[in-house]
Amino acid sequence: MTVQPQDRMSSFESVTFFFRQAAERLKLPDGITEMLQWPWRELKVVVPLRRDNGSVEVLHGFRVQHNGARGPYKGGVRFHPNADLDEVRALAALMTWKTAVIDVPFGGAKGAVQCSPGLLSQRELNQLTRTYTQSIAHLLGVTRDIAAPDVGTNAQTMAWMMDAYGRIEGYSPAIVTGKPVELGGSLGREAATGRGVAYGLAEWARLTGYHLPGKRVAIQGSGNVGSWAAWSLRELDCTIVATSDVRGGTFNARGLSVGGLLDHKGTAGAVADFPGGEAITNDELLALDCDILIPAAIENVITVDNVDRIKASVVVEAANHPVSPAADAILFERGATVIPDLLINAGGVVVSYFEWAQNIQQYRWELDRVNDELRKFMNRAVSDIHLRSQHGGLSLRGAAYECAVERVARAVELRGFV
Ligand code: NAD
Repeated sequence: MTVQPQDRMSSFESVTFFFRQAAERLKLPDGITEMLQWPWRELKVVVPLRRDNGSVEVLHGFRVQHNGARGPYKGGVRFHPNADLDEVRALAALMTWKTAVIDVPFGGAKGAVQCSPGLLSQRELNQLTRTYTQSIAHLLGVTRDIAAPDVGTNAQTMAWMMDAYGRIEGYSPAIVTGKPVELGGSLGREAATGRGVAYGLAEWARLTGYHLPGKRVAIQGSGNVGSWAAWSLRELDCTIVATSDVRGGTFNARGLSVGGLLDHKGTAGAVADFPGGEAITNDELLALDCDILIPAAIENVITVDNVDRIKASVVVEAANHPVSPAADAILFERGATVIPDLLINAGGVVVSYFEWAQNIQQYRWELDRVNDELRKFMNRAVSDIHLRSQHGGLSLRGAAYECAVERVARAVELRGFV
């Protein structure tokens, strides 16, 4: 029986919904579908933290390993108050499908600590990162499970993780990706997800005859992914009409100065009061009259509650699962194109793969090589998925899940998992 999207699904239910649709089309046996749906391993840990005021706070952390059939588990670590087990499961599963669709030799994992990093000092963040790493270290390994930054974590967090792991197992730079370049991080890793969004969008535009220069783009979120996507799309002559952060956004119909905006954010700490634009809310940003909408902040921002107000004809999922399954179905019916997360935001894991490979070889690539190879991976995947969607009459998401599930199921079969 074909499953229908519900209005309200948890994050893991949403990812599972898309997975099950693909498994059904591929006619996978029920047992294999069930096995591929659930995480292989889940670890819940307590992370006690001594605060600067002397009190002890008990935080909760997770590491979920979803599927390792195609290679070592790979996935970021999120520090966020809402990062519960359901969210981490969803993100781990999404990593399995993302590494498969972009074709890097990894499986999928994710980790999190429920905390508000903005309210913690550097000493507190250092200590909590070390305690968390020690608690999950027995699951990690250069050929077992490799971490990376995600929302609320960054290159410094990865440096602390690498050091904490190294104190147990010895010097192991390849245990984390997205670390500082001085410690073996790859050139181009920080920009990779946002840059990959622009490369992927440009390739989709080339394949479909969509004229990108001059298109009005609204980007929700101006963190790592949002700001690098803005830079890279500006280089493709798109007009960035709006961007935002958690506190609100800024809009200018003639186009924002991306450099000026990021300078302003660096000094003022927020984008909403940027003098080169007018202040808007995040809800208003999503509903703007623009050509391309790029949610690049958090999950579930486009749902049945606001999908009728979305005017953009192209939605680019730079964030992970920003569009709910029910809203996705409505956008598809309407003829809008949604370029899905597992395809379009895979640039980060591609350059993470390059970083891991460089660390293992003790060799550094130049930035041009990193970006050229990233472009090849993005172009190949976008082109494969575009073709598959055309042949199968599927959305890009449907085609991407189908390709990913087929690859993982094949690896499971070849390895003789069951
Ligand atoms: P980040 O922490 O650097 O930036 C997040 C941005 O979102 C910030 O501007 C923040 O102010 C904003 N934000 C947070 N909560 C918000 C809310 N409730 N409403 C509106 N804006 C809000 O994180 P990032 O690394 O840029 O990641 C953004 C998204 O991209 C996440 O969904 C992440 O999982 C996904 N992603 C990141 C990478 C990567 O390499 N960093 C790779 C793939 C996918």
